[in-house]
Amino acid sequence: MSTQIKERPDVSTDETTDDDAPKVFHYVKKNKIAESAVMGTHVVALCGEVFPVTKSAKPGSPVCPDCKKIYEQMRKD
Ligand SMILES: [Zn+2]
Repeated sequence: MSTQIKERPDVSTDETTDDDAPKVFHYVKKNKIAESAVMGTHVVALCGEVFPVTKSAKPGSPVCPDCKKIYEQMRKD
């Protein structure tokens, strides 16, 4: 018994494991989402994050701060 290692508790919930899913929402251009859904390609969020559209953040997840910042700057123009 040496140092304590913080591990993700192995609890089972009624939700599917979403280790791969983003913990935040990213802003992605709508036409990119449509294209990705058809082509199965990855989308690039405003912040540069690349992920397939099949990954969706949980409802209530916070918006990616980088995406939000960029989005708000875009709206100013
Ligand atoms: Zn983002």
